[in-house]
Amino acid sequence: MSLIVQKFGGTSVADVEKIRSAARKAIRAQRQGHQVVMVVSAMGKNTDRLLKLAGEVSKTPSAREMDMLLSTGEQVSVALVAMAINELGSEAVSLTGGQIGMHTDSSFSKARIQSISTERIERLLNDGKIVVAAGFQGIDDDLNITTLGRGGSDTTAVALAAVLKADACEIYTDVDGVYTTDPRLLPEARRVDVISYDEMLELASLGAGVMHNRSIEFAKKFGVPIHVRSSFSDAEGTMIVTESESTSAPVGGAAMTPDEARVTVLGVPDVPGKSLQLFSAIGDKKIAVDMVVQNVGSEGRADVSFTVPRDELTTTLEAINGVIEQVGASGVTHDEDVSKVSVVGSNMASQTGVASKMFRALADAGVNIQMITTSEIKISALVPRSQASDALRAVHQAFLLHERPADAKSWDEIKADRQPSDDVAMMVQRLRDDALEALTLTGISVLDRQARVTLFGVPDNQGIAADIFETIGAAGIMVDMIVQGFDGHDGSTSVSFTVAAENLPESLTVAEEIAKRHGMRDVQGGGSVAKVTVSGIGLRSHTSVALVLFQELAQSNVNVEMIGTSELQVNAVIDETHAAKAQKGLEKVFADSLGGC
Ligand code: ASP
Ligand code: MG
Repeated sequence: MSLIVQKFGGTSVADVEKIRSAARKAIRAQRQGHQVVMVVSAMGKNTDRLLKLAGEVSKTPSAREMDMLLSTGEQVSVALVAMAINELGSEAVSLTGGQIGMHTDSSFSKARIQSISTERIERLLNDGKIVVAAGFQGIDDDLNITTLGRGGSDTTAVALAAVLKADACEIYTDVDGVYTTDPRLLPEARRVDVISYDEMLELASLGAGVMHNRSIEFAKKFGVPIHVRSSFSDAEGTMIVTESESTSAPVGGAAMTPDEARVTVLGVPDVPGKSLQLFSAIGDKKIAVDMVVQNVGSEGRADVSFTVPRDELTTTLEAINGVIEQVGASGVTHDEDVSKVSVVGSNMASQTGVASKMFRALADAGVNIQMITTSEIKISALVPRSQASDALRAVHQAFLLHERPADAKSWDEIKADRQPSDDVAMMVQRLRDDALEALTLTGISVLDRQARVTLFGVPDNQGIAADIFETIGAAGIMVDMIVQGFDGHDGSTSVSFTVAAENLPESLTVAEEIAKRHGMRDVQGGGSVAKVTVSGIGLRSHTSVALVLFQELAQSNVNVEMIGTSELQVNAVIDETHAAKAQKGLEKVFADSLGGC
């Protein structure tokens, strides 16, 4: 018999009528012959209300009591949903997180799932019951109630689908699927039939609010197909699976993160371990740092720029000021009126000209790019906040995201084409079943025979990045990583990129031509560098990965020249002579997480 997990978000159980309608959906599935597990969120804005209430009683409520309080929202809705089902003539049993055996660690308000015991659910299902499970909550070893973090019911649903080996995991919500970008920001955004886990992970971490990040990590790890659909219509929705909708379109989605701030630490001594000190201080405050760019230093010093969410700027600056002397940096500047615009696409890695196309679109829209970072499936540009909407529209248009790609396939077509593969099954087998959400790395690799080219004193004007990468592309040179960062000297920027070592002489010639054209200060090329890559699932929700990587490199005295991070990889460009040592060191520190064992 097939088993379906159906998750209903807060808006889908906001009132009695909606609760009944959710109940009917489950009953309908049951009558079609499926076993049904429902996962339900708190009604409407109940969680927000509880949070507010707590705030009125205490400014610093204990995290344990907070979870005790917030978990009640879901307890209300599962009971009501079960009653509604019983009233409509089927049999249902509601269960709390503890009762479904959802065991987590003890990090209240952001607990990670360790294991789930399925016996009770299976017994009830075999008895013909619909199981209505409370989302978002679990229990720790001491039976304390824990919660998984805001939006965590998605993760409950996908995790249950994984351990119950469900045939489908349906996420009922107030939107009718996943769009190429947020349709509230851009009306021409298009609903996609299919999107890949990787694309969805990137988009979710950029703030595309459709699904809880960790639920996608779970789905990818266990190969659970997710079906996002509207609870208010029978529209088709979107499938989140391994494959993308198209195998050729370079970009699958775009996102804009409006409220960012840029911080630049000036004159950081360019020796191993210095940026680590900075980022450890910020990491200690649990602030997620993004778009890290280390300007290749002049006179043995570098300017390190990065972005943080705007509302964490003050805390970030405090953290930096606390270590600035120890680090030996000369100062810090910031800009809090910036936004991040990104494009994401699983097919990007195998294509040339994607970055220059994005930069050209921004230039033509009159948008000045302040910083750039790239990873294998994402390109991000930092732009003035006043231009962010124009920037998003321009890139959405340039990559024709409003049109269905000519080779786009439906989920049914993709499924029919699938080769039986045991990759996923093998991965799952290697996962310890008492550490379901533990960090899972899939490999540590080194790409050697690379070269780095840096343009210094790049004027901070629109159109320069487009010109640089169009010119390089026209010369037939394939560029891998790109970073553009702030230059503390004079408010100009510097642009670095990597190419295969054999392309270095030609790249330098082209770069010098460009530098002359725009009156740039200098061009430098570093002959023998290597790119070290740690790959895995959901690297950014385990924030320690990048930190551990830099710690290890610093300890082995390896200087990091460029950095690029994504959900899938953390990349560091280092001196080639250190590559083997770096790889060995990393394999050792990450031994516990490799292959999930
Ligand atoms: N009720 C929780 C929240 O509002 C969990 C969820 O809705 O997924 O964050
Ligand atoms: Mg919710």
